[in-house]
Amino acid sequence: LALTTSCALLLTACGQNSEGGSQESKEKKDLTIGIAMPTKSSERWIADGRNMTASLKKAGFSTTLQYGEDDPDQQVAQIENMITQGVDALVVAAINGEALSNVLQQAADADIPVISYDRLILGSPHVDYYASFDNEKVGELQATYIVEKLGLKSGSKKGPFNIELFAGSNDDNNTKYFFNGAMKVLKPYLDKKQLVVRSQQTQLNQVTTLRWDGGTAQKRMDDLLTSAYSTARVDAVLSPYDGISIGILSALKSDDYGSPAKPLPVVTGQDAEVASVKSIIAGQQTQTVYKDTRALAQVAADMVSAVLTGKKPEINDDTTYHNGKKVVPAFLLDPVSVDKSNYRKILVDSGYIDAGELR
Ligand code: BGC
Repeated sequence: LALTTSCALLLTACGQNSEGGSQESKEKKDLTIGIAMPTKSSERWIADGRNMTASLKKAGFSTTLQYGEDDPDQQVAQIENMITQGVDALVVAAINGEALSNVLQQAADADIPVISYDRLILGSPHVDYYASFDNEKVGELQATYIVEKLGLKSGSKKGPFNIELFAGSNDDNNTKYFFNGAMKVLKPYLDKKQLVVRSQQTQLNQVTTLRWDGGTAQKRMDDLLTSAYSTARVDAVLSPYDGISIGILSALKSDDYGSPAKPLPVVTGQDAEVASVKSIIAGQQTQTVYKDTRALAQVAADMVSAVLTGKKPEINDDTTYHNGKKVVPAFLLDPVSVDKSNYRKILVDSGYIDAGELR
């Protein structure tokens, strides 16, 4: 009997070897993971789609990837299609965090687990796990950079300095985390009038930028310069995302900022996109927040693997992200502040950006 058992085990092992792959990876290959990404208009999401596909393939899965062109209805239709095609799990970076309840009900009915990627999906109990960054910290890093750069944090300058505030898309759950994280840092300086928002637009609903659109931000910055800065100068702009920062900088440059007499304000950003890193090197945009999307994709792929093999994914936060129906267990990665002084070490040496792309 003992012989038979060990023989059976051996045969299993032999079978795997002779067929050139483990039983497990063969099964995984038959499992397809649907990846829904928001837009190709921003570099980071192109990288996310690529990294997510690579991480899942490396884990042995098949994948299908769709981009929703920043159109929530299109994203719903794409996810519906994936469900109809019989995907085995979904990884979704939502365009509108509140628009997916119905389609996620269909996923649940078909027993398809869902990983919320980078942006939390709201209003649905059928979100199994959340892979993201510490989003509040992103805002803290941007605002801390501003008060340090202006000399307010060290006390070497007292101000007052003029600042304007920009936030992301109001249908992206991350937006309020970024903004609140930043405002937590800025508030004491605003209260003491060391920082002044001349436009008086300080509430989140006054400063959002639909779909994170750079052109929309440029237009708003144009309007702010006309209405509040005809006799004053803006010293800092809180910008939540590199594409928005580029729009803001265009508006500033067309108002002669960046000339010797009128230095550009401190302008923050997020995502370490190539255009913005170049702008930082050229002394225009001041800062960005780097989030290693390779690491994020790996976390999400590990979650998929665990869920589909009956294991518990690793999480490091089970209190912060309530989506209106449940607290979604999350793994949050650390964002990093980047400027001219450390971009080489953080972005180039880590292989995130090729030095050649920055020339
Ligand atoms: C992401 C940011 C990105 C923004 C615009 C947010 O949900 O977390 O990294 O800058 O969307 O694409």
